Amino acid sequence: MRIFLAALVHETNTFSPLPTTIASFEELVLHRPGQAHTLDRARRSAGYAEAWAQIQARGHEAIEGLCAYAQPSGPLSRRDYEALRDELLADLQATGPVDQVVLVLHGAMVADGVWDCEGALLTRVRRVVGPGVPVGALLDLHGNLSPDMLGSGAVLVACKEYPHTDYAERARELLDLLARQSRTGRAHGAVMHRAPLLGIFGTTAGPMKDFVVRLKAAEQQPGILSVSAFHGFPWSDTPHTSAALLVLYEADDAVLAQRAQALCAELAGAFFDLRETASAPRLAPDAALDAAVAAMDGSRPVVIADGADNPGGGAACDSTFLLRAVLERGLRGVALGMLWDPQAVAIAMAAGVGARLALRIGGKVGPLSGDPLDVVAEVLAVRSDAQQTGLGGLKDDLGQAVALRVAGSNADDGVDVVLNTTRQQVFSPDCFTALGIAVAAKRLVVVKSTQHFRAGFDPIAAAVLYCDAPGSLNGNLAALPYRHLVRPIWPVDAMP
Ligand SMILES: [Zn+2]
Repeated sequence: MRIFLAALVHETNTFSPLPTTIASFEELVLHRPGQAHTLDRARRSAGYAEAWAQIQARGHEAIEGLCAYAQPSGPLSRRDYEALRDELLADLQATGPVDQVVLVLHGAMVADGVWDCEGALLTRVRRVVGPGVPVGALLDLHGNLSPDMLGSGAVLVACKEYPHTDYAERARELLDLLARQSRTGRAHGAVMHRAPLLGIFGTTAGPMKDFVVRLKAAEQQPGILSVSAFHGFPWSDTPHTSAALLVLYEADDAVLAQRAQALCAELAGAFFDLRETASAPRLAPDAALDAAVAAMDGSRPVVIADGADNPGGGAACDSTFLLRAVLERGLRGVALGMLWDPQAVAIAMAAGVGARLALRIGGKVGPLSGDPLDVVAEVLAVRSDAQQTGLGGLKDDLGQAVALRVAGSNADDGVDVVLNTTRQQVFSPDCFTALGIAVAAKRLVVVKSTQHFRAGFDPIAAAVLYCDAPGSLNGNLAALPYRHLVRPIWPVDAMP
């Protein structure tokens, strides 16, 4: 079979201080058909990599169109969004007849005046290929599911795990469902049910781990093809922003359609019932540091997640609130990363390894980044080729990166900070160890990430704590100036 494969991925934080343009995609992944130098980067992008591998494993021909990923940030301009959308559609048209279409999308992409970029794109893709060609989309569970996405008739499959460690399984599921459609010529039925809640729900432990088990059990019921639980993306002010359940079923008879409806409503209700317990508590910076000191066991590091400044949700990734607090307390044996600060990186690289220099770091993008910190830093390492292991074991480039010791004169009393030029969250210890920082031997590690870091850090951590410093992804959702949400929704509104 000839399968058209393309990706257009952006998680849009409508409260982010950073705009999103075509250049934002160029900084991360912007692969165009026939462009040899970007193909490797495209094929190690989470979601696209697994979908491409599935097509290869089945012996089909992947016809690769646009593959575009940008780091989460603010809404795209309408012009840039439409340019990328139309480029993808032109690639599809130029391909000629295909047997299937596989798209890798996020589900929370917003452009000026377009709340639901994925729904609009899928609708247009359907128009190009007609009603008979199976179309599928692999989505992030942080997508805000919309009626237009369902209305396109696409097979929609979202990852179930947060951290998103299951793209390989979900890509297999999506290709299985498309193969079923190609084989039988029968479309699936789809039903969605909004669960009026917003939050950050890791699935590594607690009630959400059990909820994932329940979703998978529901998929074993006769006639049920797939169940996805969208957590939604809270820092997105749109009418579609919400958690939602999606059930795909064999659209053969009315009784099954009713059962799918009931199952979807039941699971949405179960998700809503978890609202008070599904999120790990987030501590204020001082409380997080107190708890970290109490949890230090002398052999393994305590890890604090600075989720409010996670670039993986659209934050600037240069806030100094936690670093300042660590330095003020005189905490020893600390590593912190990564601060996005191209200017300080350039100065430190020019100074070179071993230099000691006065440097102003972080706090540059806006008020939610805090004030910059003036430090005396020793340059421990500089690299332009460092990578970290990202989701699914894929290699993620750090750009130009430096390790600095910003206090003390040896590893036991210093605070080691990684700064880099590619705005990216911490996925794994590699972003420290690649720069010579023995992170497993530290007493405390502070990471700019909300949850994805757990896949790489749980094996070395004495404890993991979630902190809620000021920032673009601060967890106090009720304080965000929402204007377009469908109300009521928890926790913005008190709901019984
Ligand atoms: Zn996500």
